Amino acid sequence: MAEHSLEALIEALRRLPGVGVKSAQRMAFHLLQHDREGAQKLSAALQAAVQGVHHCARCHTFTEATLCSTCLDGTREARQLLVVETPADQAAMERTGSYRGLYFVLMGRLRPLDGVGVGDIGVQALLERASDGVVQEVILATGFTAEGEATAHVLAQALKARGLSVTRLARGVPAGSELEYVDLSTLAHALSDRH
Ligand code: ZN
Repeated sequence: MAEHSLEALIEALRRLPGVGVKSAQRMAFHLLQHDREGAQKLSAALQAAVQGVHHCARCHTFTEATLCSTCLDGTREARQLLVVETPADQAAMERTGSYRGLYFVLMGRLRPLDGVGVGDIGVQALLERASDGVVQEVILATGFTAEGEATAHVLAQALKARGLSVTRLARGVPAGSELEYVDLSTLAHALSDRH
């Protein structure tokens, strides 16, 4: 029975992105041999997060409430809506300290080869969000990877068809970059030089 639990743990750890069987084994052995208290904390934190964290009804980022703290912050500039792929990209943009508007988090990007199409990344929800009559500029801040560029292109078409003003982060960001790995001053410049 003990061996079965160990195998189940290794299998579960392998579900994490970038974790192969050897890494999963190392993590499992480490937790069980050296850090049982950490393992308990990890288990409790996972349980709490899975039960408590949902998507914000307005911007789709992770939150434990109906609306996230950014959407509820009345000091943010509600006329600007910045579209990112992930909460990690949103956090990177926040760290620049140079953006004071609101966000929409796609929770993905178009990946046609993997079967992720327009219907899977919240395009309709974005169109509705951006058409609230308050938003005056939608800033596309998807990554500068091929998929991120394709996503920005599709979103720009759909938003412009609704008569919305669309800008894109400037090209100071190296091609092929995920936003979350771009250094902060480059990201701030890409924002201020958007077109
Ligand atoms: Zn929100």
